[in-house]
Amino acid sequence: MTKSLLVILLASIGAATAAAGSSPDAAELAKMAGRLAPTPLRVDLSRLSPGDRKAVAKLIDASRIVNDIFLDQLWSGNRAEYRKLQADRSPLGRARLHYFWMNKGPWSEIDGYTAFLPGVPATKPPGANFYPEDMTKEEFESWEKGLSPGEQESAKGFYTVIRRDASRKLTIVPYSREYRADLARAADLLREAAAATDNATLERFLTARASAFLSNDYYDSDIAWMDLDAPVDVTIGPYETYNDALFGYKAAFESYVTIRDEKETAKVAFFSKHLQDVEDHLPEDPKYRVARLGAASPIRVVNELFAAGDGNHGVATAAYNLPNDDRVVQQKGSKRILLRNIQQAKFEKTLVPISKIVLSPEDRKDVDFDMFFTWIMAHELSHGLGPHEIRVGDRTTNPRLELKDLYSAIEEAKADVTGMFALQRMMDTKAIPGGAAEERKLYTTVLASAFRTLHFGLQDAHARGQAMQVNYLLDKGGYVARPDGTFAVDFGKIKQAIADLDHDLLTLEATGDYAGAKKMMEKDAVLRPEIRKAVDRLAAIPTDIEPLYTTAESLTAKTGPPRKRPGGPAKPPVTGR
Ligand code: ZN
Repeated sequence: MTKSLLVILLASIGAATAAAGSSPDAAELAKMAGRLAPTPLRVDLSRLSPGDRKAVAKLIDASRIVNDIFLDQLWSGNRAEYRKLQADRSPLGRARLHYFWMNKGPWSEIDGYTAFLPGVPATKPPGANFYPEDMTKEEFESWEKGLSPGEQESAKGFYTVIRRDASRKLTIVPYSREYRADLARAADLLREAAAATDNATLERFLTARASAFLSNDYYDSDIAWMDLDAPVDVTIGPYETYNDALFGYKAAFESYVTIRDEKETAKVAFFSKHLQDVEDHLPEDPKYRVARLGAASPIRVVNELFAAGDGNHGVATAAYNLPNDDRVVQQKGSKRILLRNIQQAKFEKTLVPISKIVLSPEDRKDVDFDMFFTWIMAHELSHGLGPHEIRVGDRTTNPRLELKDLYSAIEEAKADVTGMFALQRMMDTKAIPGGAAEERKLYTTVLASAFRTLHFGLQDAHARGQAMQVNYLLDKGGYVARPDGTFAVDFGKIKQAIADLDHDLLTLEATGDYAGAKKMMEKDAVLRPEIRKAVDRLAAIPTDIEPLYTTAESLTAKTGPPRKRPGGPAKPPVTGR
């Protein structure tokens, strides 16, 4: 699930905790922060070369600058507010600072961006600090119409902010100018990291990205990122546009310093080799099967050492797909990064406690992280399976166009279910270890995970797709609701139920059957009473995690430069941990 979707669906559930009128006190803030369970991230660096270790420390320091830039991007008052909070040593001040840092601003993200500090705007300005706060959509649009085509492109581009000049006229300022001092320091650190690493592709990416910070032209460095093939996998720069709620044009700075998980990345490659066999056996009319699957976009599995800026606020990002520049995507495709230790932290802090409520004591033993992560990989790969180019009447079209607003719910459900089908198929063909014990782990873990998604509410397409699956599988007898309020898998029926559900979802996509999709969603994408009751019992379970960068902190404490810098916030103090 993308982070933005999760944020949207979380927005409605936490609203009750935001204090109306007055701002929350220290105890309330601690409770609000506690919904994101603090989780130390420890990453094994023992296999890194000495050069890469040095590079990693530089990259973490560069990422701290990314935090500073992101504070600026989110709100014009952010840096001043942050300095004010840092100076406040009272318990309330500490609690405010801690929650501020988790949100990278004075608004509680999981409460739909409601203010938790006094004297700040009630919610995040829709244009964040990418545009003048008093600028309306209409003003931008009528101004932009009068520009030359080149200026229009730049006004709507990823890497510029819009400001007012001395005569209050709107004007375009490139990131390289707006954030010049920060980007110059970050570029220096990237070059130092490039000089330290012994991996040529990492050196090339970091050198190109350092130049991009200063030239504002990110194309070459995006290409170099696609070619990055190194034990230290890093994503740093302006990427996602979700924070620009006004237009969705402007990219926020983020950073992920990660270490590639060689074993799990190899597993993805291994699964990829079996995809054609799965496609050839999908439970759908054989005429819909794709005889030769195209090349799938690469998937990298990594462990997060440090994340910053847009990569570290509110709900933790567990996966991302980049770059967003269409020119790069057309030439090089895109890459999907799965953050395995973040998935594991979420699993332990949310899924395991949920399983204690929705499963019987004996079934809980089958909830297994390795299987959970294997299924996530299978889900990602399954997006590449099934119908992609379809015929409706005499038109060639695709499921997205035909299923319109219902597409994401159907497609995500398809990937969930096809992922289970694919793993079952690989177990049956002995491509991976199978047998009763493995099957118990797979189906029981996925059942518990369904309740994790439902716990967030039904506002989101993914959650509706999930509700649909649970109800369908209950009706087919693959899942059983027990009188004591727990749920279980019926192992005699689950495989057929999965095949039936997959058949129905694949056929909806193959035929572009909007009416059929609508009917299925209306019937099954609901919280029936027995599920509602279970979901209500999950209220006290943490919503997500707060990553604590244990390994990164110890690494840079020894090798990093002094963190206090004039003009910018220092490393956040560790509060209440
Ligand atoms: Zn998906």
